[in-house]
Amino acid sequence: MTGERFAAVDHWIARHLIPDDPVLEAVLKSARTNGLPAIDVSPLLGAFLALVAHLIKARRILEIGTLAGYSAIWMARALPQDGHLVTIEVNPRTADVARANFARADVVKRIDLRVGAALDVLPTLVDEGHAFDMAFIDADKANNASYADWAATLVRPGGVVIIDNVVRDGRILDEATDDPDIVGTRSLYAAMRMDGRFESTALQTVGVKGWDGLLIARRR
Ligand code: SAM
Repeated sequence: MTGERFAAVDHWIARHLIPDDPVLEAVLKSARTNGLPAIDVSPLLGAFLALVAHLIKARRILEIGTLAGYSAIWMARALPQDGHLVTIEVNPRTADVARANFARADVVKRIDLRVGAALDVLPTLVDEGHAFDMAFIDADKANNASYADWAATLVRPGGVVIIDNVVRDGRILDEATDDPDIVGTRSLYAAMRMDGRFESTALQTVGVKGWDGLLIARRR
């Protein structure tokens, strides 16, 4: 099967299961107009994140890696009125685009956008006493093992941690690579293997974003 066929199936499924959403379409359009790369989650993955948030009745969600706010909006919409989502973005100009999109999607009250490097922001969330029901990690892959470690501190027992891009066209098998994304992802698996705080698995995915995967963990 080719990548084109995987994408065609993704589009076909999305047409059946994901209602048309002019706001989310405008969010993606604004991302591209502002020159941001097309590395937002797919619509089907956005719907999956919202579904998980609904299933666990999440009230507090942490996201690392905002981009234009597409995945954050999917998850924020799954929160109750008094729920909140903290999302961390390192690039101030990118954060401006996300901020405008949160207003466009009318989720400003539920979203707390922190601008800075995640490894600087995460300790401040611990100091502020946050406890999250769910975390979605989707930023620089080189730091994924550290992000999972912070998630173990910040996510309550029974909460869920989802980490994107953990297969990367199968390149995670490449032991000799010096690609920081792959090295970081391999370190993530090594850390999770040793980390008794999580029960975890990873699922390979194909679709509009090619061949990749999600690591899904429950905080014990
Ligand atoms: N989750 C977004 C979505 O699906 O709509 C996509 C996030 S994109 C894959 C990764 C984002 O992480 C980029 O906007 C990038 O600027 C941000 N990022 C990269 N390194 C970061 C860091 N150290 N701290 C916080 N954000 C970072």
